[in-house]
Formats: sequence, structure tokens, C-alpha cells
Amino acid sequence: MGIEFETLNEGDCLLCGTAGSLTGEHKIKASLLKEEFGSRKMVMAGKDVPKVLQSPRSKHVHFTAKICRECNSSRTQAADRAFDRLHQGLKKLRTEGRQLTNSNNHPNFEMSTRDSADYFRYFAKVICCFLAEVGGPRSRSLSQFALGLNDKNPIFLEISKDEQYEVIRSERKTDGFAKHGGLKFRFDDKKKWVHSIESSLSVGGIHYEFWVQLRWLAKLELHFRYGQLVREARSKLEQY
Ligand SMILES: [Zn+2]
Repeated sequence: MGIEFETLNEGDCLLCGTAGSLTGEHKIKASLLKEEFGSRKMVMAGKDVPKVLQSPRSKHVHFTAKICRECNSSRTQAADRAFDRLHQGLKKLRTEGRQLTNSNNHPNFEMSTRDSADYFRYFAKVICCFLAEVGGPRSRSLSQFALGLNDKNPIFLEISKDEQYEVIRSERKTDGFAKHGGLKFRFDDKKKWVHSIESSLSVGGIHYEFWVQLRWLAKLELHFRYGQLVREARSKLEQY
């Protein structure tokens, strides 16, 4: 049994680790896709190749790794809603032509203390999902934070305007655009140790870059227990 990482078996919930009735999770929240695209044809770019999708139920939109019903509903509801409120607030600022964040990289509008903590849990969940998607383990600290079981926020987040948003929309003749960055392992200078696990999301003209930095013990554990995953990431130029 690992300290920070736990191997996921088929049928295990990628967040709480227990076997049970599992359900799929969207790579980009269904409500955001619907708001962005309505019933129109979707353009969503992931990894390298932009994919044109027909509906929010497309397989490119869902993670194949699964979450149990409880984790997908009550345990992550506050985080999902906090992220919704964050996104709506940022979109409003963008529409008004205002700065999205202040000098501390905090959103430039009032949010409750609870929401300000909870929206980070949403990004923690997304990293957990991407890690499971590539056959990686469950991170205990990250999944517990995602589920609201601890308040130790390990997520770094950078919010910016997606300057390409309007350009892409006009070039691809679509009203909406969304993109997720997949999973990325960032290595140290010598490309030996995984320094951080990262992903990104762009929807509605708002770009979110988020990552978690690994402590030494986690770096060692990932390197020695999940060596194949680390080698694959390295060989794919660090990008899935
Ligand atoms: Zn669960």
C-alpha cells in the first residue's frame, strides 16, 4: 500500500477508491458545454487535434475512468457549484472588458469564503480524473481535497482570458469553443522526477491552467511504483 498513491483497480471509484455503482464524468462540465454550444455542433479541441463533436454525449467529452454516484453527486456538489459561480463571474468580467483577476491572481469579484475554497476542489477532481484516465493511481491528498475531506488546498490555478477565443470561433465558423489540456507531467531539469501534474481548460473565453506540485515522497513513489507511466510521459515529450 502506497503512502500518497493508491493503485486503482477496474470498478474502483477514482476519487474514494471503493468499488460500487460507477458513473461517467465529463471532461468539461456538461452545463458549461450546453451554455457554450446550446444544441449547435460543438468544436472542442483536446490534446493536439481539434475534434468536431456532434453532441455533449460524445465519447470525447467523457472520461472513461469512473466515479461512484455519491462522489459524483453529494460529495462534489459544492465544488461544482462554486466553480460554476466562478466561471459565470469571470465571463461577466470578460464581457465587460474588465480584468479577470487582481494582482494576487484572485478573481476580480466578490465570492463567499466557502466558494473561494471550494472551486479549487473542482480542479483537484479534474486532475484526479485525468490521472485515472491514463491508468495512473489515485492521489490520496488530492482526492480527499476534491471530496471536501480536508482543507489543504494543493492546487495552483492561473486564470486568464483566452485571446484565441474569438479568432478560433470565426475561423471554424462556430459560435462556441471549448478545450481541455489533457494531462501533463512536468519534469525537473534532468527529466528524472515528475515535478508537477498539470491540466488546463478553456471555455467561454476563459482559460484555466491548474496543477499540483509533488512533494518529495510523492515524487519518489510515483517514480518507483508507477515507473511505466512516468516513462511513457517522458517519451511523449511530457504531454499526453
Ligand atoms: Zn467514490
